[in-house]
Amino acid sequence: MEVNETLAADDSPSMSSVPDCPSCGSSVASMTVLGPTDGVVAPCGCRIAPDALESE
Ligand SMILES: [Zn+2]
Repeated sequence: MEVNETLAADDSPSMSSVPDCPSCGSSVASMTVLGPTDGVVAPCGCRIAPDALESE
């Protein structure tokens, strides 16, 4: 049995950190990219352009 010492940490699969949802302003836990211009953020579920979350 493993001891999980990062219970409170959100383990995002590939994204290190994401900003607030540009659509509703809620904190974004994760984003699923559906296409080059289409994505869904969680947990609010807004559909946004993935590009809108990238500040680079
Ligand atoms: Zn939202």
